[in-house]
Amino acid sequence: MSKEKVMNAIEASKERFFRLAAEIWNRPEISYHEQESAGLQKAALREFGFRVVELDRIQNHAFIAEYGSGSPVIGLLGEFDALPGLSQKVSTAQEPVVAGGPGHGCGHNLLGTACIAAATGIKSALETDRLKGTVRYYGCPAEEQVGKPVLAKAGVFSGLDAGLCWHPADINTVAAYGTNASVELGFRFKGMASHAAQVPHLGRSALDALTLMSVGVEFLREHMPQSARVHYVVTSGGERPNIVPKGAEGHFQVRSPRMREVLPLVRRVIDVAKGAALMTGTQVEWEVLRGCYDVVPNSVISDVLYDNLKGVPLPVFDAADRDLAAGLAAYSNEDQKRATLAMFGIDPASAATIINSPLHESVGYWGVGWTIPASTDVGDVSHLAPTAQINTATWPVGVGSHTWQATAASGSGIGMKGMLYAAKVLAGAAYDLMTRPDLVQRARAEFVAATADETYAPAEELIK
Ligand SMILES: [Zn+2]
Repeated sequence: MSKEKVMNAIEASKERFFRLAAEIWNRPEISYHEQESAGLQKAALREFGFRVVELDRIQNHAFIAEYGSGSPVIGLLGEFDALPGLSQKVSTAQEPVVAGGPGHGCGHNLLGTACIAAATGIKSALETDRLKGTVRYYGCPAEEQVGKPVLAKAGVFSGLDAGLCWHPADINTVAAYGTNASVELGFRFKGMASHAAQVPHLGRSALDALTLMSVGVEFLREHMPQSARVHYVVTSGGERPNIVPKGAEGHFQVRSPRMREVLPLVRRVIDVAKGAALMTGTQVEWEVLRGCYDVVPNSVISDVLYDNLKGVPLPVFDAADRDLAAGLAAYSNEDQKRATLAMFGIDPASAATIINSPLHESVGYWGVGWTIPASTDVGDVSHLAPTAQINTATWPVGVGSHTWQATAASGSGIGMKGMLYAAKVLAGAAYDLMTRPDLVQRARAEFVAATADETYAPAEELIK
């Protein structure tokens, strides 16, 4: 069986995949609430003859679906959660389906479905060819809330020879970049309430402590490496101004290109919190809320993905797709489009060409040596197995993730065609990895070298 037959198998079932992606798009569920989305995926996978193993005992709505046996084991990393407040119709005007409701503004309705489609293509090769190995789809809940480390800690990704992943975007490219590692902590200050006018000297303000902590973190910012990021929000700060606040809480998030760079910064933020407590006569407690590792790119698998990005025919968009794209792209000016593209590590000359049309209809290999400032829990998987990713154009040029425009495109023909393209590229890469043991060995060797100086442990275990 040739790779072409893998592609034909995906093509033959494309209407089923479009329906699955549309059903998930129509029922957007935010992180940890993906009951129906996971159910729809599991039903489709059973229909295609996969062994589905539910992992709810580890994490609600998590599962794996497998076909074949033995090595190599190729994993396709799927997601399906939506985002709050991004409900949107397939329209060029901002029109929520449900006012204030969730929506697929990160395109995860497409993300998981393409990986399922790719897995079915490989399954057909395993059935009819002499192909040996295992294809495994990972149903990973709560990507937007960094869900994968829980599965990583439970060993769900162990034994993987290669992890393949993609993310909806506005361009077709190998996602050769790394991402920032990230740790988010919750700080809870406890003080003493008193009448703020009558006996303020008897009070100890937890809000003062939190305010001083944020001031301290602002001063710390100057002394962090330029590539690091720190963000915070106040989640509670007292009840009424005439009561000295006895409680105050804030969430602080630190990012840097490697986890080993995040950890010393986190320790300094904790010291700032302790200092703020000391200054105000309050107490502070803290906990790690979530964290994810940086993505370790793998050039061997990235090259395989690039060959397939070039080898699979690009989507053919129709007039309706182009009208929608033009309408959605019109919300960003040229500078905004350039800024969105620069995020992927694209050189200015390529960006200048890409912004000239509303849809990206060629292929790039961008992001080598680049770290995007955002984070993804795919990072944890990339510390456990050789992993690589692509982006495909499911949205018009300049449309960023986590926007209503991305929700609209993810429910449209543009999203569906970009998804099918991603599915075929991933399947083609998986086929290459399964038929060429040398690639798997080289990918493993690169992975071992890249991660030799770091032993994986989930973020909360690293910060004491
Ligand atoms: Zn996403």
